[in-house]
Amino acid sequence: MNDCLFCKIAAGEIPSKKVYEDEVCLAFYDIDPQAPTHFLVIPKQHIASCAEVKEENASVVAHIFTVIAKVAKQLGIESFRVVSNVGDQAGQSVKHLHFHVLAGRDMTWPPG
Ligand code: 5GP
Ligand code: ZN
Repeated sequence: MNDCLFCKIAAGEIPSKKVYEDEVCLAFYDIDPQAPTHFLVIPKQHIASCAEVKEENASVVAHIFTVIAKVAKQLGIESFRVVSNVGDQAGQSVKHLHFHVLAGRDMTWPPG
C-alpha cells in the first residue's frame, strides 16, 4: 500500500530496529515502548488488521505466531503479552496488521 507506514518499514524504506526478518514477516522494536521489551511483528503483505484475516492469508498469521514464540525464546522472555488493536476504539493507530509483544514488567488485567 502506497501510503502505509508499516509497508514502508517492511520494504526497508523507513529504518527500524529489527529483531527478526524473513520473507513473510518482520519484527522490530516499537518506537515508543510501553514495557522494557516491546516489539512489533508485522506481515510484509498489507493486511489492515485482524478484522481482515481470512482463509487466504491465515497462514501468514500462523507463521507470525511461530516467529513470536521463536523470538521470545531468543530474547529470553518467558512471560509476555501479545496484543493486536483493531479499529479506532481499540486504539489502532497504524492500519497495517501488527502484533505487539510486551514483556519485562507486571501487567494488569483487564487492559485499559
Ligand atoms: P497501534 O497503536 O496501531 O496498536 O500500534 C502502533 C505502534 O506503532 C505504536 O505502539 C507506535 O509506537 C508504533 N510506531 C508508530 N510509528 C512507528 C515507527 O515509525 N517506528 C516504529 N518502530 N514504531 C512505530
Ligand atoms: Zn501496509
